Amino acid sequence: MKAIAVVPGRKSSVHLAELPKPSLSEVPDGRGVLVRVLRVGVDGTDREIDDAEYGAPPAGSSFLVLGHEGFGRVEAVGPRVTELSPGDHVVATVRRPGKSLYDLIGTQDMTTDDIYYERGINLLHGFLTEHYVDDADHIVKVPQAAAEVGVLLEPLTVVEKGIAQAFEIQRRLRVWRPRRAAVTGTGTIGLLATLVLRLRGLEVVAFGRNARPYRNADLIEALGARYVRTSELTVAQGAREFGAFDLILEGSGFSPLAFDAMQGLAKNGVLVLTSVTGGDRRIEVPADRLNLDFVLGNRVMVGSVNAGREHFEAGVRDMAHAESAYPGWLRGLLTHRVSGLERYDELFATLRNPDGAIKIYCEVAPL
Ligand code: BGC
Ligand code: ZN
Repeated sequence: MKAIAVVPGRKSSVHLAELPKPSLSEVPDGRGVLVRVLRVGVDGTDREIDDAEYGAPPAGSSFLVLGHEGFGRVEAVGPRVTELSPGDHVVATVRRPGKSLYDLIGTQDMTTDDIYYERGINLLHGFLTEHYVDDADHIVKVPQAAAEVGVLLEPLTVVEKGIAQAFEIQRRLRVWRPRRAAVTGTGTIGLLATLVLRLRGLEVVAFGRNARPYRNADLIEALGARYVRTSELTVAQGAREFGAFDLILEGSGFSPLAFDAMQGLAKNGVLVLTSVTGGDRRIEVPADRLNLDFVLGNRVMVGSVNAGREHFEAGVRDMAHAESAYPGWLRGLLTHRVSGLERYDELFATLRNPDGAIKIYCEVAPL
């Protein structure tokens, strides 16, 4: 079968590879699920891997099959799989367990291991191929009604985890009634964060780089949130204008914004960082001021990576909630479809030059 792969460490090495079709017997204890891949989204992580900044192949392989935002249909299940059947639409989680205590209890998104295993990113092949098999423990069912937007589930889980972590942390406060939130970055993650925070009933200000007309700003306003350009208002200034933010989710991919966001936080507020920034950027910051405000205001900042099964399940529920609260909104994020694995060149050219794209995905097979 065909697959889109790279040679990690070699720049612009994306190519079409040939792999044997996997079989259910590769998964122990009769828990295997064979999935026909339908759609796979691509994002900045795929671009960084093809730029040789990130990623590693599986042991014994010279290449890595890309794709961690999968969506597919079950074709066959092992004898001990009771929760899934052929025909079900599914999404697989990304990270697989290593050795730490967190991995042993099924929360490998919180691993303390130095080496982590992520399908399509690090040490494990991904989903940009025709079929994959995995243990049913790592596969989440998506209802038929959400099939059209199912390819958005993996990026949504990054947001679900970040926001769930914020609420979990805020249990330190006997009462926490967040009213106002900010989101920095208005790409797929920023848009999905705005959605989830609106579904939780918060007022949201989303900070982005682009001037209007800007489709993402229109999508933000369709949720009843506000779009602000970072060149016109910093997060700190936004906090003075609209009121300080109880919760901020940073998802811009631009690390200086994390330091701006720190200055927009309300007392007792929480800042969640989700950008994976592979570079070596340096900036000057008002260190005393930032430190003092965090101390005197009991503020908290947390990093959040990847997502666990519970966040995939929460994402599925929010997709259904979103469809009833903002019908058709999620579908508006699916801006660029490239049909067929053999068009990997076009897929990556679009990723490198997104020009108005929100979610770019490969349609491997029709829904
Ligand atoms: C993926 C996460 C992953 C992270 C770091 C992101 O693009 O969506 O699942 O944990 O990259 O590799
Ligand atoms: Zn990703």
